[in-house]
Amino acid sequence: MQTACFIDGSFVPARSGRTFAVTNPATDAVVAQVADGGVADARAAVDAAARAFPGWKSMAAIERAKPLRKLAELMHRDVERLADLCSQECGKPLAEARVEVAYAASFLEWYAEEGKRVYGETIPASDPAKRLLVLRQPCGVAAAITPWNFPVAMVTRKMGPALAAGCTQVVKPAEQTPLSALAIAELSVEAGFPAGVLNVVTGLDAPAITEAFFDNLTVRHVSFTGSTEVGRILLARSAANVVRVSLELGGHAPFIVFDDADLDKAVAGAMASKFRNAGQTCVCANRFLVQRRVHAEFVARFTAAVAALKVGDGRAAGTQIGPMIEDAGLHKAETHVADALAHGAHATTGGSRVKVPGCADRFMAPTVLDGVTPDMLCFREETFGPVAPVYTFDTEAEALAIANDTPYGLAAYLFTADGARIMRMAEALQYGIVGVNDALPATAQAPFGGVKHSGLGREGGHHGIEEYLDLRYVSWRVG
Ligand code: NAP
Repeated sequence: MQTACFIDGSFVPARSGRTFAVTNPATDAVVAQVADGGVADARAAVDAAARAFPGWKSMAAIERAKPLRKLAELMHRDVERLADLCSQECGKPLAEARVEVAYAASFLEWYAEEGKRVYGETIPASDPAKRLLVLRQPCGVAAAITPWNFPVAMVTRKMGPALAAGCTQVVKPAEQTPLSALAIAELSVEAGFPAGVLNVVTGLDAPAITEAFFDNLTVRHVSFTGSTEVGRILLARSAANVVRVSLELGGHAPFIVFDDADLDKAVAGAMASKFRNAGQTCVCANRFLVQRRVHAEFVARFTAAVAALKVGDGRAAGTQIGPMIEDAGLHKAETHVADALAHGAHATTGGSRVKVPGCADRFMAPTVLDGVTPDMLCFREETFGPVAPVYTFDTEAEALAIANDTPYGLAAYLFTADGARIMRMAEALQYGIVGVNDALPATAQAPFGGVKHSGLGREGGHHGIEEYLDLRYVSWRVG
């Protein structure tokens, strides 16, 4: 297992010589001691990426595709090892971690192909003696700041488009989950990437490490996935050198079930959307809006499915709900539940933390809260835990108004059989992603991202590679 920073093709200790412990949130067991890099390490990584840029940029896209594809193959080959590492550092169940590794590899596979389709344009000129061309060129060194909740996929979702476009990259993974990023770096050597094309700087002091991304003109793109609070800080810091930023931030997804919906599919969708990674995903349903006629039946079926979920160590057989990543996450989920109960809601299942024998005290019971109203905390803030609050609505207009009554705008879900309503809602919901009878819309070939406080820019699809390309307009007098 690699535990040092990956700079210019080599694994190197932090210049300070310091390390920090990565622990398994399920058990508090130390998984590894990892290099505690700082600004000097990050500068070295940025310099290495800048040196590698001209060579990588000038390679044909078809050649850049080869190590990208190879890395995807290696990730599939090593899926069990990568999934186990992912589960150890972020706590998610092994079955989910395996799916994450495949999802992560899909970004490398897809962008290996998409990099070959970065076409320019010719524009008809008004002056017959001129030729007008638009070139699309890699913008330079790119930086990626990734969260702990998808430690494998959030790296490759940024790496695939950046490297396919011809940019070189420095990745700063979350301090809780640096090992997955280092494992990808290790496989990148075997895949044949030239030194300096991919670099990873691990460490505890995120503001110091990321200083190297903003304090001069070398880094031209910073892609961040994480909280809205930190996204705002990075957006402000990007102003000094006018660095382009892509921000994938928090969500507060409504999950709307109309009374003509297929309830089996709606319940299955609710389970998939809400409880993946113990509710610690940015697109997970955070507010359930259920139309009055089907409310009781939906809650009964949903409650039965939720009550059957198995809570435990992510690496234990059959686990479906792992630990919260940190004590603070558990406290937030408990606070949201307590606030809802104090204001008149009731738990149809769960409602408190659970003790898992031999594990840390960091597990929240999967919870369904009924009788929730929009003024309760759980309906106003992202819970980021396995808590499903249910509100009963009467009309489409009411559901839409409540769904849009938030500063967030990442993902929204609706379950209905009415085609006209689907189109009305898809157009009126103020969200970057709308899942229609589909609780898992994220895929490599489609644009993922939010509006309002949920972010700027898109990852995935041909839209995702645009973030890493500069337009160069060439006006050519030929006569
Ligand atoms: P976070 O605290 O914002 O951390 C994300 C990353 O930013 C980590 O690498 C972190 O490093 C770094 N960071 C923290 N403070 C920083 C600073 N002042 N300057 C520079 N970098 C800094 O978010 P999180 O708690 O890991 O993730 C949870 C949030 O992310 C939720 O709101 C969730 O909705 C959102 N999220 C969004 C998406 C999406 O695609 N829209 C996907 C996943 C998660 P350290 O770990 O070293 O602090």
